[in-house]
Amino acid sequence: MNSDEQIIDLHTHSTASDGAYTPGQIVQMAKSIGIGLLALTDHDTIDGISEAARMAEFSGIDFIPGFELSVKTDKGAVHLLGLGVYNPSAELETLLERIRKGRRERNPRIIRNLNELGYNITLSEVRELAGGEVIGRPHIAQALIRHGYVADYNEAFKRFLNSNGAAYSHRWRPDIAYACEVISNSGGIPILAHPGLIGFSGFDEMEAFITRLKASGLRGVEVHYSHHSREQHTQLLRIAKKLDLIISGGSDFHGANHPEARLGRGTDGEFISIEYARALLDQLHVAQLRY
Ligand code: AMP
Ligand code: MN
Ligand code: MN
Ligand code: MN
Repeated sequence: MNSDEQIIDLHTHSTASDGAYTPGQIVQMAKSIGIGLLALTDHDTIDGISEAARMAEFSGIDFIPGFELSVKTDKGAVHLLGLGVYNPSAELETLLERIRKGRRERNPRIIRNLNELGYNITLSEVRELAGGEVIGRPHIAQALIRHGYVADYNEAFKRFLNSNGAAYSHRWRPDIAYACEVISNSGGIPILAHPGLIGFSGFDEMEAFITRLKASGLRGVEVHYSHHSREQHTQLLRIAKKLDLIISGGSDFHGANHPEARLGRGTDGEFISIEYARALLDQLHVAQLRY
């Protein structure tokens, strides 16, 4: 494959959060399908980064360390990717730990709510399903499925775990401006994840929202994405160009936990090209890329 056709994926999850594969396995899978540049972006943790970076070095593909956070905005919670944090500051480590503490306090509340509704799942079985330190609603959904209380993830979220679900409980989130500041101070780039999933009344509202986020320190938007429509993709490209924001592309790969998101593939299931990483790489000043 010539370098112009290089495939990338800048949004993936491993067993360090709610993905089905280990960081090393994801890198090996990426290598096997021809991905030349990969980012690992687990929820609220950088625990998987060193394993992924080592395997990337071994496999001969380029790797960007990352993570994904849920942050507060004037439109509710949205997801932010922090890409290219090679040397996390103490402030960033503290922020991630505070978010994980919010999870540790929230999870028992959701389980208690489920128990009160008559669904007998325990924190220890959820912890076992999670494996890593980051335990989230997807793991609680797995436990509900395993007990036969629900048929699948969608039913688990719709009935119990969504913000209007019967067992929902809130967890702490940082303000977007603070999260952007901490990421940028650590040398990373804060990028709005999957803007197409936020739910705008139209593209004017989307543009106005992203304009406000830029004023709060946002520096990029995920354009190429597995659940974006072609129209969302086109509009996001236009908005990014107009606002001089970095574009990015990622699948949101989780393995069997979200089978519809396939590694290396974004909008319309198309492979994501290196064009969706060029501006990011320019900003990160990554020393030595292989292509
Ligand atoms: P948490 O991080 O524990 O608050 O859980 C949020 C995560 O659950 C998201 O990052 C998604 O991976 C997953 N999720 C949210 N909504 C749904 C849904 N409707 N179906 C399946 N997974 C979902
Ligand atoms: Mn997830
Ligand atoms: Mn997300
Ligand atoms: Mn994600």
